[in-house]
Amino acid sequence: MSMDTVCKPELVARDYKSDIKPVWCPGCGDYSVLSSITKALAELQLPPEDVAVISGIGCSSRIPAYVDCYGFHGVHGRSLPLATGLKVARPDLTVLVASGDGDGFSIGGNHFMHAARRNVDLTYIVMDNRVYGMTKGQPSPTTEPDWDSALAPGGTGISPFRPLVIALAAGANFIARGFAGDPNGTAKLITEAIRHPGFSFVELLSPCITFRPDQKNWKTQVHDAVVDPTDDMGRAARRLMTDDGFNTGVLFTGERAPYQPPVGQATATVSDLEERFAL
Ligand code: SF4
Ligand code: MG
Repeated sequence: MSMDTVCKPELVARDYKSDIKPVWCPGCGDYSVLSSITKALAELQLPPEDVAVISGIGCSSRIPAYVDCYGFHGVHGRSLPLATGLKVARPDLTVLVASGDGDGFSIGGNHFMHAARRNVDLTYIVMDNRVYGMTKGQPSPTTEPDWDSALAPGGTGISPFRPLVIALAAGANFIARGFAGDPNGTAKLITEAIRHPGFSFVELLSPCITFRPDQKNWKTQVHDAVVDPTDDMGRAARRLMTDDGFNTGVLFTGERAPYQPPVGQATATVSDLEERFAL
């Protein structure tokens, strides 16, 4: 063991917290998710300069500002293409992507499917509160069809998006669900997701206290998945198709090799391309 290794102080969760104070509503589940992310980074002892957190737009997408590492607060629904570009250019970085149900499954729904298909080594954390919080409470893709609100009286009547099923069908290599009310369990899931190669998807049920106060009941509804993780897509599909939305734990662990194109081996210059595609 070198002297460097001996003298290096162990990093703890607070070392990954920035000095910026979160502006979320008191009681928002996203505080707990932030804490889980910093705990996971400490568990893995990742140097902050080797980590990047990328996001889109929404309450949850504020997270890059609160984590003391590299970060990029992108545009609505586009966190995954940004993160994909970063990871293929800098495969040495650990890249986390933070999103919400509106940002990630509506505006970014197409990117979600293709990021799973490409299987670049990313960890995609979606804070799902089944509502658009930042824009004041519109139904999102995961909102229950009968959720009655001022903006959707009587409910939308539209079947919700099923993110875990879509992730499996599209090719995600790791699928898990956690609950913000269990920050230690959630930190463990994020740790496993980072360790697992390829595209890891973690749905975190993160209550929106302001627009969905009914979600305070989630703590009585969540439960551990009654089965062990599987690497069998058929078994995982049956499990996820009959899922009640509150099973927590690791639900699928795939074995596909991550996609990593060669870096720095382009043979065409910009002027070659201009010449080839000139009209
Ligand atoms: Fe959290 Fe909802 Fe407040 Fe946004 S509006 S900070 S999701 S409680
Ligand atoms: Mg939301």
